[in-house]
Amino acid sequence: TLSDRLTSALQNLRGKGKLTDADVDATAREIRIALLEADVALPVVRTFINQIKQRAKGAEVSQALNPAQQVIKIVNEELVGILGGETRRLNLAKNPPTVIMLAGLQGSGKTTLAGKLAMHLKKQGHAPLLVACDLQRPNAVTQLQVVGERAGVRVFAPEPGNGVGDPVAVARDSVAEARSAQHDVVIVDTAGRLGVDEEMMRQAADIRDEVEPNETLFVVDAMIGQDAVSTAEAFRDGVGFTGVVLTKLDGDARGGAALSVREVTGAPILYASNGEKLEDFDAFHPDRMASRILGMGDMLTLIEQAEQAFDQEQAEQAASKLSTGEMTLEDFLDQMLAVRKMGPIGNLLGMLPGAGQMKDQLAGIDDNYLDRLQAIIRGMTPEERANPKIINGSRRSRIANGSGVQVREVNDLVNRFFEARKMMQQMAGQFGMGGGKSATK
Ligand code: GDP
Ligand code: MG
Repeated sequence: TLSDRLTSALQNLRGKGKLTDADVDATAREIRIALLEADVALPVVRTFINQIKQRAKGAEVSQALNPAQQVIKIVNEELVGILGGETRRLNLAKNPPTVIMLAGLQGSGKTTLAGKLAMHLKKQGHAPLLVACDLQRPNAVTQLQVVGERAGVRVFAPEPGNGVGDPVAVARDSVAEARSAQHDVVIVDTAGRLGVDEEMMRQAADIRDEVEPNETLFVVDAMIGQDAVSTAEAFRDGVGFTGVVLTKLDGDARGGAALSVREVTGAPILYASNGEKLEDFDAFHPDRMASRILGMGDMLTLIEQAEQAFDQEQAEQAASKLSTGEMTLEDFLDQMLAVRKMGPIGNLLGMLPGAGQMKDQLAGIDDNYLDRLQAIIRGMTPEERANPKIINGSRRSRIANGSGVQVREVNDLVNRFFEARKMMQQMAGQFGMGGGKSATK
């Protein structure tokens, strides 16, 4: 799997430092293979890989994740971003009816989708009208009627037996009918061909010009793979569309078509269709699709857990050190950095209960102050951080020089640290942690 390959590609990199260019290049090769295996179109893979490289190079190596996990995390975040971040909703017309037109190749799932969408909208309290504008295939109208019956939605179709009807006229009449019969949404099912051809495009464009849809949805089979780009481009240029629906996601396609279509056309993916039944239909979820394309849903769950577990473990360690009085300056620094990650210190202090009464003590503790503390501790040797008692006068002036602060500030820090440690020990005793004195009198 991709995660195994990444892990071996990044074996020599351990938990500290930055991701190097060589590491990122090795990783990029593996991700490229994974994307191609997921049927993402080649030019899209290239663009995407370049983006990933830029973001990953020089990224700090996280302590919670191994480098392979970390790169996967970055790739996943980028994928989710490209796939659309948040799910977009259907644009409804200010003056009903809202007209939704479906376009796509034959067999992509338009007629099935028409039924699904109609039922979905009906459940939300709309009164949709399905419109049969595929008059090419003999059975197309009947198929829509069957679907409409299952969905419990009315179907507008030309009278049978008058030869091949005019889909543009049907579309026009359907909107008039919707107005007079109080349908607030019109869903226009159109004809498709097995391949893209001009006549089909012209017909779809004529229907579009006649009814001016609020949404034109390009319906695309997720199994189409590499052809997704050329098909999407043809429909973009021939008809134009405002959104995309991916179908047949219940199949074994990894879903690379989603990334290809999205990247090439920029149109949002609104829905996912995943089965033949009317219920097999959902809003499109970029995060689910990203993990499907990467083929590693489990790995992503693991990454989330690792990040949470790491913080928890760190917090528990810190708590036990505090209660036994073993806290070192190194721990002090770690804690401060952890707190910093959560946002400006002022916000955090404001959330503490009792912060109001402690205004004076808290005055002057701002991000700038923390920066200076950090600089001072960084200027100490590991031995000094672990055992602050040894920090005598000459060490203090050396540290002050090295960190660009006054000796007074070093003194202040060391004193505060000892005070804090003593206070922690006393508090731990009072609260019954670490076996100190009992608080009862
Ligand atoms: P159209 O030619 O674009 O109108 O496509 P249809 O709606 O007629 O669908 C073509 C075939 O694909 C039919 O057999 C559908 O039952 C099937 N189909 C449509 N959507 C899905 C889907 O999401 N999953 C699966 N498994 N089959 C689907
Ligand atoms: Mg059809």
